Amino acid sequence: MLSNLKKKAIIILMTYHIVTYGCQMNVHDSEKIAGVLKARGYSETDDPKNSDVVIFNTCCIRESAEARALGAIASFKGVKARRPDTVLIVVGCVPQKEDSFEKLQRDFKFVDIVLGTHNLTDFEKTFDEYSASKNRFTEIIPKALNLKENASYRTSGANAWVNIMYGCNNFCTYCIVPYVRGRERSRAPEEIIDEVTACVADGYREITLLGQNVNSYGVGLDVNINFAALLRKICEIPGDYRIKFMTSNPKDLTDGVIDCIAENRKLADYIHLPAQSGSTKILAAMNRRYTRESYLTLIGKIREKIPHCGLSSDFIAGFPGETDGDFQDTLSMVREVRFNNIYSFMFSRRRGTVAATLPDAIESAVKKQRVRELIALQREISSSIALECAGKSYRALIEREHGDMREGNPVALSDCGKMIFLEPTDEKYLHTFQNVFVTGNRSGRLVGRVGE
Ligand code: SF4
Repeated sequence: MLSNLKKKAIIILMTYHIVTYGCQMNVHDSEKIAGVLKARGYSETDDPKNSDVVIFNTCCIRESAEARALGAIASFKGVKARRPDTVLIVVGCVPQKEDSFEKLQRDFKFVDIVLGTHNLTDFEKTFDEYSASKNRFTEIIPKALNLKENASYRTSGANAWVNIMYGCNNFCTYCIVPYVRGRERSRAPEEIIDEVTACVADGYREITLLGQNVNSYGVGLDVNINFAALLRKICEIPGDYRIKFMTSNPKDLTDGVIDCIAENRKLADYIHLPAQSGSTKILAAMNRRYTRESYLTLIGKIREKIPHCGLSSDFIAGFPGETDGDFQDTLSMVREVRFNNIYSFMFSRRRGTVAATLPDAIESAVKKQRVRELIALQREISSSIALECAGKSYRALIEREHGDMREGNPVALSDCGKMIFLEPTDEKYLHTFQNVFVTGNRSGRLVGRVGE
């Protein structure tokens, strides 16, 4: 009996720490890994150097992101030498790249398990086998295993991430995603409905549907369904929740999806629609397959059908061949659309992509200056939008400023994508929908209170 108790105490003390880089797909993959470990009695620790299992879930969208992840893993060599029983695991997009996988196998022999994105669904089996045998396991496979989901643990407050599809067929010339996440595969609609239903029953108030290109949902499935039809089916699930999705390639955003948002209160009036550039010439070089004009037409259509729709976007400054005139086109697009917010990035070469082979004549200083200009312009726009919001009320979900971190102040996330900072006393409304009154703004950040 005593020895059983001791065993139990040992199991309870086992800990894990996950370092997650990159996008929401990776955040959600880390949740699934955490669910597997929790089911085996591990608890989370924020002390990686004394943790029993340390996992690096990596991103390689930029070479700098890959270098950062590899540097962090390398820094664990000493920890592994001091605590050889620590299980060190590397997963995600970096190992899925063949050259990086070889590097991990060759130069990172202290790593115990390496899995790519395509066989991450095997994490549970691999972890159990390693725990029993202690045999190092490193494997990537060229094609994804059958989709299976095991999200038993979630970390994002009132929000639950739900994968609806994986991979991308678009091959934008700057992007490594199709090479490390594979071609598009959609989950069966009934599986998605079941998962969303379970999330709603568990009390999640926001469901964010994830995919690299959600608008092509359904392609290749045996059933005849597209993204708009999936959204309509999901909205039939009873309960007090709202649906968001990411990410949308503008070329694939259909009238059906726009109509669905316009007609359905359960869908947030908010679309993240990465434009990447305002120049048709640069969009063609990026292989985005839409033009400046068609993007602006799409925005016009959204604004006509969903007048209060919040819009955000991504822009890359300094793509090879971007002249000052092209960049002015980007600035004028940002001015014309008046996005709620934008994310601006300097173009950086990503080996393995087409854009990495293009002559990159643009100096780093110019790229930096262009990003600064984009940020400054967006600040101006955000400040003027903030002034227009004062005195208005928005329906919003009350969350914490930093996801589920306990010390975060309450914030209201409106259906149209606005973040309104609340008083600490509004904490009592956490994870409920409320009407929030905007009282003003502090340096462009909206402030308000719960109530009309
Ligand atoms: S749509 Fe383009 S940018 Fe987005 S994941 Fe696919 S290739 Fe990358």
